[in-house]
Amino acid sequence: MHAWLLGLGLERALAVLMLVAWAAALLVTCAVLTFSSQGSLALGLTIASVCVLTITPVLGYVVLKLVYELEASREQIRLLAITDDLTESYNRRHFMDVAEAEFVRSRVQRLPMGLLLIDADHFKRVNDTHGHQCGDTLLREIALACRGALRGSDVIARFGGEELIVLLPHTDLAGAMAIAERIRRRVARLSIDWRTERVEATVSLGVAALRPDTPSLDALIHEADQALYDAKRKGRNQVASRPSAVREVIEVQAT
Ligand code: GH3
Ligand code: MG
Ligand code: MG
Repeated sequence: MHAWLLGLGLERALAVLMLVAWAAALLVTCAVLTFSSQGSLALGLTIASVCVLTITPVLGYVVLKLVYELEASREQIRLLAITDDLTESYNRRHFMDVAEAEFVRSRVQRLPMGLLLIDADHFKRVNDTHGHQCGDTLLREIALACRGALRGSDVIARFGGEELIVLLPHTDLAGAMAIAERIRRRVARLSIDWRTERVEATVSLGVAALRPDTPSLDALIHEADQALYDAKRKGRNQVASRPSAVREVIEVQAT
C-alpha cells in the first residue's frame, strides 16, 4: 500500500487520498440519510464530525507512517555513507571532514588536539596463514578494542587497509600517548578462535599532537605516520611519537 502510494508521486497520491476521504464522507452521509427520516442541521453536523474523526486518523496514519519511514531511510543512507562496513568505524572521507573542522577550531581557539595512526602488525601473515576471512574478523575485533579504549568525543575511522586513525579533541601529546598505550595493551590482550587455532593481534601506533606551528591537518597526519614508522622499526607492538619533529624544525632554523 505504502509503496504503491509513494510510486504515484506527490500530486497523484494527494489526489487519491482526497478522493478516498471524499468517497468515505459521501458514503457515510448517504448511509445516515437513508436510515433517517429527515435531514437537519444537527444531523449534518454529526455526519461532518463523524467523517472527520474517522477519516482523518486513517489517512493521517498512512501519511505519517510514510514520513517516518522516509526519515528512517534517510538516516540509514546517511550512516551508510559515512561508515566503513567492515570495521563499523567511520570511513576516511567522513573522518577528514570532521578532522579538518576540528583542526581549524582547535587552532583558532588554541585548544590541544591529538591524532593516532594505528596499524595492525604483520597482518599479511595473518591472511596468509589463516585466510582473508580470519583477517577480516580480526580487523573488526581490533577496531572494537580500539573503540573500547576511547572517549565519546574521540573520532575513529578506517584510514585504509589494516590502518585506523583516531582524532582526539582537547588532548595534548601526553594525553594522546596515554590513550595510545591503552589501545596497544587492549589489542595485545585480544585473541579470536579461528577454526582450531587461536589468533592474536598487536598494533603499532604513531602519535602526534597539534602545535602552534603545525601548518595543516595533512602535516599532523604525516607526523603521526612518521612516528608509526618509528614504532614499526622499534619492533612493532609499540607506541611512538616524534617530539623530535619540534627539535628538527628548531635545528633547521638555527643552521
Ligand atoms: P606491518 O607490521 O609492517 O604493518 O606488516 P603488514 O603485513 O601488516 O603490512 P603490509 O603492508 O605488508 O600488508 C598489509 C596487509 O593487510 C596486506 C593486506 O592484504 C592486509 N589487509 C588490508 N586490508 C585488509 C582487509 O580489509 N581485510 C584483510 N583480511 N586484510 C587486509
Ligand atoms: Mg599498513
Ligand atoms: Mg600492518
